[in-house]
Amino acid sequence: MPPVFRFAPSPNGHLHLGHAYSALLNFDAARQSGGRFLLRIENIDAARCRPEFETAACQDLAWLGISWEKPVRRQSEHLGDYRAAVEKLAAMGLIYPAFESRAEIAGRVARSEAHAPWPRDPDGTPLYPGAATSLSPDERTRLLEAGAPYALRLDMAAACARAGKLSWTEHGKGPDGETGVVAARPDAWGDVVLARKETPTSYHLSVVIDDALQGVTEVVRGADLFWSTSVHRLLQHLLDLPQPAYRHHRLVLDPDGRKLSKSSGATGIRELRAQGATPADIRRLVVLP
Ligand code: GLU
Repeated sequence: MPPVFRFAPSPNGHLHLGHAYSALLNFDAARQSGGRFLLRIENIDAARCRPEFETAACQDLAWLGISWEKPVRRQSEHLGDYRAAVEKLAAMGLIYPAFESRAEIAGRVARSEAHAPWPRDPDGTPLYPGAATSLSPDERTRLLEAGAPYALRLDMAAACARAGKLSWTEHGKGPDGETGVVAARPDAWGDVVLARKETPTSYHLSVVIDDALQGVTEVVRGADLFWSTSVHRLLQHLLDLPQPAYRHHRLVLDPDGRKLSKSSGATGIRELRAQGATPADIRRLVVLP
């Protein structure tokens, strides 16, 4: 079976050099290995994603000389797949609704941090303080029936106990040089959100479902997602999905050493093109042959 690669941008802005680097790495690797290359549009965030950014991304990729298989998978068109996974996890007793707003959670963490540091996930976000787990079943039912907004969180301790030790194959490198067989540490993320009342999925859940449904065998993506792979491995295990191999690549940084953002005009592919850059110039700028 040929290897299957994918590039999975979120259409919430225009592509920059970092996206070009990731897309070209995937596309080149697929071509060199006789593999397939897929494009996936990660547009579950309805408030920030826009169709015109998807169109622009496709134009930029085509200009770079990248082609992909059709049809393109758009996450917003597959909410049923994610809902089914949430139901499976619910049937296993591994998720629960949490009703606090983001502000309430931040307030609770801040009050606690007045006394001692609060644990944070690998992205630096405070772990969920867990008040919802002490709600009585009656209180939970009352809030659900009252139509209160909620997030569905993974009971991380229960999920880890069920899964036992997990690892993944890393062909790239982690922040501390981790490579080869890397031990997953999903517990470092706490009770992650897997879905919300108004959106039946989350980044972690949909990426795992999509990679499985699209038959992706090689996940090549930025180093900022290295430790997210721990959560992905756990969900793959719980949902009985195959595990791809991973390669986390260096990030393209701005001259000050910061991660590029979608709004950084100077490194936008369209801006560079408008200034007369060629696809070969883009390859040079991101240091690719
Ligand atoms: N949509 C994610 C991003 O734009 C990429 C997710 C992934 O490659 O797993 O950062």
